[in-house]
Amino acid sequence: MKKCLICEKGELVKVEDIILEIEEYVFIVKGESCNSCKEEFPYEEETQKTIDIARKLGVWPEPLKLYRHLSKSGGGLILRVPADLEKQLKLKENTEIAITKVGNKIVIEPGG
Ligand SMILES: [Zn+2]
Repeated sequence: MKKCLICEKGELVKVEDIILEIEEYVFIVKGESCNSCKEEFPYEEETQKTIDIARKLGVWPEPLKLYRHLSKSGGGLILRVPADLEKQLKLKENTEIAITKVGNKIVIEPGG
C-alpha cells in the first residue's frame, strides 16, 4: 500500500469516482484516494485525458492542479514543468522564474 504524501498517515486506495469539475462540466476519473485525509489523486493519464476533452469543449481548467513527482539530479531536486503549462505560459529553457514559499506551498512565477 502506498502512503499518502499529504498527511503521511493514510494509505492510498484505488477509486473510480474522483470528480473533476471544470467550468460547468463534471468529469469522473479514476485515481487514488487517501483513507485518512481524503485527498484525491487522479491518475496522471486520466487528468490528461480530461484536460484534452475540456480543451475540445473550449474550457480550460483554472486553477489547474496537476500532480508531479520530483526527481533527483546532481544532488538537487528537479521539477518537470508539464508541457501544457510550458506552452500556455510560453516558457523557454532560460526563462527566469521567481520562487515564493507561501506556507507549505511553492509558487513559481515566470518573470522577465
Ligand atoms: Zn492523506
